[in-house]
Amino acid sequence: MRILQVSAELFPLLKTGGLADIAGALPLALIAEGQDARVLLPGFPAIVAGVRDLAPVAAFTAPWGEGFGLRLGHVDIDGTPGIPAYVIDAPALYGRPGNPYEDASRQPYGDNHRRFALLGWAAAQLAQGLDPQWQPEVVHAHDWHAALAPAYLHFARQAGGPRVGSVFTVHNLAYQGIFAPWHFAELGLPGAAFQMNGLEYHGQVSFMKGGLYFADRLTTVSPTYALEIQTPEQGCGLDGLLRQRSAVLSGILNAVDDKVWNPATDTALIQGYHTPEGRHMAGKARCKSVLQHQLGLAERPDAPLFIVVSRLTEQKGLHLVLGGLDALLAQGGQLALLGSGEAWLEEAFRQRAAALPQSVAVTIGYNETLAHQMFGAGDVTLVPSLFEPCGLTQMYGLKYGALPLVRRVGGLADTVVDSSLEDLASGEATGFVFDRFEVADYERAVRRAFALHERAPDWRRVRGNAMRRPADWATAAAQYIDVYRQSIQ
Ligand code: ADP
Repeated sequence: MRILQVSAELFPLLKTGGLADIAGALPLALIAEGQDARVLLPGFPAIVAGVRDLAPVAAFTAPWGEGFGLRLGHVDIDGTPGIPAYVIDAPALYGRPGNPYEDASRQPYGDNHRRFALLGWAAAQLAQGLDPQWQPEVVHAHDWHAALAPAYLHFARQAGGPRVGSVFTVHNLAYQGIFAPWHFAELGLPGAAFQMNGLEYHGQVSFMKGGLYFADRLTTVSPTYALEIQTPEQGCGLDGLLRQRSAVLSGILNAVDDKVWNPATDTALIQGYHTPEGRHMAGKARCKSVLQHQLGLAERPDAPLFIVVSRLTEQKGLHLVLGGLDALLAQGGQLALLGSGEAWLEEAFRQRAAALPQSVAVTIGYNETLAHQMFGAGDVTLVPSLFEPCGLTQMYGLKYGALPLVRRVGGLADTVVDSSLEDLASGEATGFVFDRFEVADYERAVRRAFALHERAPDWRRVRGNAMRRPADWATAAAQYIDVYRQSIQ
């Protein structure tokens, strides 16, 4: 099948969150399954710089009359033949350094409606033959940035265009791409699209709603989140539409790219480790002492090291980590945090680190290498999210034997099994899970982590379960291929 993946980010070229990891790994997994997959990306500086051998393919005109170019090249990912990648040449729209969505003062760019409509538009042009050498049978759009692709395809089909399947995946329903109604006229969609049964959302234009309403098939990144977004609590105002479309909505759990995230081969680690039974885990102890030294923490092998690698936003439940920090430290633990985001959270964590530098290390910023080192060194990965579509850091925690401590929500509920006595006995326990979004519940889970840590053989057993948990892309790719087939039936 010829499949076009459309996303605003792609690891290793450009990443602000989990979307990039998936956008980089899924095409490779599809290619490995024998599919003919390509990607379409906006020409952000990091993307133009990272795609090899870019050559012109075609020129096309945006709905608002401006002309742009499309080029084709390859994204190389270690040891693979690479992913064929179309890049939209639009320096006036994309040629801005830094975050792809916001300016330096963290404000969304005023022309984001054009910047991302163009992404969906180019996908629809490719589906209608813009590249005479290659025409997708299925367009798979990711998140609101690409969400107009299914809408354009729907209306192109109505106007007699080719029957190309569309699949829309929600990585996070909270980010919807909402714009003022007067921008609708620039999008090149018929007036009929701007109504409740379409892109209109409380008088505004919602890109996300366009994807959810017009795509042939919908997916999201975990089975539990697929159910949660159909409820008023987690539906972000779109639960009604999602319930209406529940027959075509499914949850496919993200996987982990073994080439990037594997403690046995990870070049960011001072020493690799594997075989969770404990025989070859010396590397993890070494990673821990090196990181403790590097971060200025007390070099205590016995102190459970709790880690956080996260965007610092309300979604991630980090006020629970702040609220439970004294108790964590009183029990002899250490905290290492890597993240950036909301100023008040950055400041609160910075203050805690300044007060107790031997026990709390806070690194504000984005650092891929340090992230790997934190999973390599950590004993417990904290992910106490308010909501979590899938979550990747708990999966990295599992793989690296940094046992996840998570709230039972979304993909966290689907990937971590609490260390209850019965799940310890059955060999299924892989971490620590709590229910209510409250400091008291979180603290109980932290106490459970300390209690298990004191029982070294049990800790090793749980760590072994965690490290062995399958999270391969082949399984996820097979599920996506099923969905693609359904989209063209
Ligand atoms: P989200 O997409 O909501 O941010 P996920 O858990 O799905 O959350 O994915 C987050 C991804 O971003 C993971 O790959 C994580 O390692 C990475 N990440 C988050 N913050 C940082 C940071 N400050 N430095 C390096 N990597 C980070």
